[in-house]
Amino acid sequence: MSGHWPRAVRGDAQGRSGRSSVVGSLGGDGVGSLGREPSKPREHTPLLRTSGLVKTYRTDGVTVEAVRGIDIDLDAGEFVAIMGPSGSGKSTLLHVLGGLEPATRGEIWLRGQRVDGLSTAGWAVLRRRQIGFVFQFFNLLSNMTVADNVELPALLAGASARQARKRREELLGELGLADKANAAPARLSGGEQQRVALARALANEPSLLLADEPTGNLDSSNTRDVLRLLRRTHDAGQAILMVTHDARVASLADRVINLFDGMVADDAKVVPIPRGVNAVRDVLELRG
Ligand code: ADP
Repeated sequence: MSGHWPRAVRGDAQGRSGRSSVVGSLGGDGVGSLGREPSKPREHTPLLRTSGLVKTYRTDGVTVEAVRGIDIDLDAGEFVAIMGPSGSGKSTLLHVLGGLEPATRGEIWLRGQRVDGLSTAGWAVLRRRQIGFVFQFFNLLSNMTVADNVELPALLAGASARQARKRREELLGELGLADKANAAPARLSGGEQQRVALARALANEPSLLLADEPTGNLDSSNTRDVLRLLRRTHDAGQAILMVTHDARVASLADRVINLFDGMVADDAKVVPIPRGVNAVRDVLELRG
């Protein structure tokens, strides 16, 4: 891995997605400069593409338009942070992209194949093989140990018991959880459970990781562990779509998409920040 800060931002001004960009700024929180990307020629096949994606909830006669027509492309290996105010549709978008909830309208394409019409079982297969999901509420299996929770996805994806164990040991080691392998999830703190959930999502080396606030409950040391693992995941060529409220965490990404009111308000590439910008370095210097 490249392993040092600041990393090179992938692509050039034109960007790997082939979109043009004009450098702009996100504001004074140390994220660095962002390029606006108004045009979107769609001449190649991205890893993930949404077109006119809409998700409407109807509960007790009340309609909520959580996602209101989202078009995004995510290239293989690209790291995109999703930001935006509470209620802007971030989690809903992730849930729909992971097949946890059906889209109301619009299209979702994965590797050039349309997947929005898949059955629950079809989505389960996709998640087993290609998509890792880190939920906000962890969703660990309470009657299994931490080790089993992390090994299960790799086993379901066809890894041997030995491969699954090796991968689990690596992941729990990187996240400082090696000594928790035999514990029940309920005996772990919220932050520990969150890291186990990330290890589980990465166990089968998915080509796309969907992560809903993976650092939300973590102190700074654990945040560093998680960011280091996300960096390594990114360096290994896996794509990441990550919801975060933390602009410093988002600055690790190639691109930041801001949602507002269920729509994309801004979609911009991250330009690397020079060494010596303290606010960012505090979080992103990935020393143990
Ligand atoms: P964010 O993740 O940006 O905070 P959400 O995607 O959670 O936003 O929510 C977007 C909107 O959709 C909010 O108004 C929220 O109340 C609504 N919403 C989310 N999930 C549901 C649901 N299961 N049923 C009804 N409304 C929902």
